[in-house]
Amino acid sequence: MQYRQAETLNQPPRFGEGRQYWINTFGCQMNEHDSEIIAALVENLGYRPAAAPEEADLVIINTCAVRKKPEDKVASMLGKLYTLKEKRDDLIIAVGGCMTQQEDLASYIKNRFRQVDLVFGTHALPRLPDLLDRARREKETVVDIEEDYSGRESLPATRASAFHAWLPVIYGCNNFCAYCVVPFVRGRERSRHFEDIISEASVLAEKGYREITLLGQNVNSYGHDLPEKPSFASLLAELDQIEDLSRIRFMTSHPKDLSPELIDTVARGKKICEHFHLPAQSGSNRILKKMNRRYTREQYLELALTIKETIPDVSITSDIIVGFPGEKEEDFADTLDLLEQVRFDSAFAFIYSPRRGTKAEQFGDEAIYEEKEKRLQALNKIQQRISLEENERLVGTSREVLVEGPSKNNPELQTGRARTNKLIHFPGPEHLTGKLIRIRITEARTWNLFGEAEGEPY
Ligand code: SAH
Ligand code: SF4
Repeated sequence: MQYRQAETLNQPPRFGEGRQYWINTFGCQMNEHDSEIIAALVENLGYRPAAAPEEADLVIINTCAVRKKPEDKVASMLGKLYTLKEKRDDLIIAVGGCMTQQEDLASYIKNRFRQVDLVFGTHALPRLPDLLDRARREKETVVDIEEDYSGRESLPATRASAFHAWLPVIYGCNNFCAYCVVPFVRGRERSRHFEDIISEASVLAEKGYREITLLGQNVNSYGHDLPEKPSFASLLAELDQIEDLSRIRFMTSHPKDLSPELIDTVARGKKICEHFHLPAQSGSNRILKKMNRRYTREQYLELALTIKETIPDVSITSDIIVGFPGEKEEDFADTLDLLEQVRFDSAFAFIYSPRRGTKAEQFGDEAIYEEKEKRLQALNKIQQRISLEENERLVGTSREVLVEGPSKNNPELQTGRARTNKLIHFPGPEHLTGKLIRIRITEARTWNLFGEAEGEPY
């Protein structure tokens, strides 16, 4: 009894009891997972999820800083929240994530949007309950953008899915690609302990999760900072032994660190999915050098070829930056040629967006924006043709999918993901969600496939 009392004393004050929260997430999977942690932390304070932001007593915006566009969206959202706050003075508005980890943007938000009660950075999650407690009592905006990494590993998460889970394996990034803000807002690389990852994955499998996605800015550098220096491939091989787990995914792979051992491990693994998200960023050696990517187009092509030769039915996806400072027509032509040679299953292309504090911000850039937009359109057109052609090759074959639920565009269809991460829609009942089933593919489109269920779900 005494012990239970002590336990109660250590718990945070439940000032969220009877109140509701709303989280808006921008950006990558790491941010999505951070929002799952934020959800668990505020639920521990008593808050429950709200059906809409208007009904919430606590609104949290988890921001992205990789390009200007998501930053602009945050600013416009904060403008809208102003009217809500005017009506309800007790509403708490908190802004966190990659944008606010930067000192200048944290002060900008604090000064420009007076309705914001709390500004917190990516490292502040363990301190969030205390920060919210202060934010509701103090008149001034509370700010925490300390570079204090402690306590992050042991935080709980309220997962958005009951069958798929994000699992970070390495935080931060040491690569400093010339265009990228991530190393500044996520700090240096910190690998999680090997055993902690295995035991978290085992617990998830016991709870009924079928699929995990291992997350890191560069999963291939996993382990270099741990005493035993385990490789990422050895982590994958160990996770592959967890009985109740059906699928293991991982992202992102940096081409400069993708080892032959990893390719073999994926080829041999039973549960490790045959998909590499392997951002090329450019096909021009001159631009790759300026980007500080530390591989050449020849090395990239060789790597993609080895992957395709070693792993049957593998898919390779990519990110490409168009209009990097100094990119000339011939550099862009090299990128288009890389697309044709590798034949990515899909590629996300972005127009270069200058980021404060990065090396590329200092580079001269003569190309006009309209020219970059034209290049983006030309590239997308080529990639869309390749994606469609690659999908068409699958018509008539059979693929295992993990069913995610009704299709967003047509609720009469169910949507599942193949091991290669391709979306497949098929007619079927809703209770298949979270189950595996084989689908015979009947139709290919650019972004997805259609098919019919074969046999029983499992
Ligand atoms: N760690 C991952 C990517 C993280 S950012 C990697 O190394 O691949 C996700 C993608 O956003 C990048 O792959 C890149 O294509 C794009 N990106 C990053 N910074 C950008 C910028 N300043 N302008 C345009 N696109 C950018
Ligand atoms: Fe950014 Fe490069 Fe690190 Fe990826 S590897 S997060 S692109 S600096």
